[in-house]
Amino acid sequence: MLDRAFMFGDGIYEVIPVYSRRAFRLAEHLARLEASLRAIRIDNPHDPSQWSSLIGKVIEHNPWQDQSVYLQVTRGVAPREHQFPQGLTPTVFLMANALVTPSKDQIERGGSAIVLADFRWLHCEVKSVSLLGNCWLRTLAADCGCTEAILVRDGFLTEASSSNVFIVRDGVVITPPKSNLILPGVTYDVVLEILRANAMAHQVRQVSETELRAADEIWVTSSSKEIFPITTLDSKPVGQGENLGKPGPVFARAYAHYQVFKATVMRSAAHV
Ligand code: PMP
Repeated sequence: MLDRAFMFGDGIYEVIPVYSRRAFRLAEHLARLEASLRAIRIDNPHDPSQWSSLIGKVIEHNPWQDQSVYLQVTRGVAPREHQFPQGLTPTVFLMANALVTPSKDQIERGGSAIVLADFRWLHCEVKSVSLLGNCWLRTLAADCGCTEAILVRDGFLTEASSSNVFIVRDGVVITPPKSNLILPGVTYDVVLEILRANAMAHQVRQVSETELRAADEIWVTSSSKEIFPITTLDSKPVGQGENLGKPGPVFARAYAHYQVFKATVMRSAAHV
């Protein structure tokens, strides 16, 4: 019970999507894990090849072709005291679940979100297991029948309770830059890569709450949701004209490219 994660939420986690028993973007997930551990002064207990073999074992021992591998590293066990104790043995935990990405039907309908004030702390770039703020915000969204909470701080979009956010305005895809206010999503990077590779107009810059509310399209991205359209914001349909309340044409292009990209990468990926 004295594990620091149990007492203080003092630990880091990762969620890695696995397609056809191959981990997607493993190196990037392990690099983010390393960065988060370093930020809070936990020595990484494993190097990338050791992580890769542990993750490979978890994949092998589970029945699904597509999995979501969860891993957690906590600072370890110590008498309850606020200051980070030194020299503890980190607790390492891994598990897998079936990876369930949004169905065709869910994508056609899109999701609903509400805009909430981002009341989390100022180190959202650290993938900490202290997710109370995120869980609370998601619950406030669920109270209103919404699937996501899209967060704004000081009048600008940050991210959502468990995903990054992209908007489309006049055909241009826009997403906030990486900073201490958002988690640097692995899927966020993949989407930007896809936009670049396919010469789709995009900008990485601050997005005001006004722009968010006036967006033609809103997407959320994460390892389990991939790219997912938000078609209702604060009970109002997103977009205009024939796309009102429906996933837009830029989403359709990006989503199609994402699926092709994933299939191509997975064909050449090494089994872990
Ligand atoms: N932001 C937050 C707050 C998240 O919890 C997640 C999902 N872990 C993301 C963004 C998306 O990150 P990724 O694309 O690496 O899953």
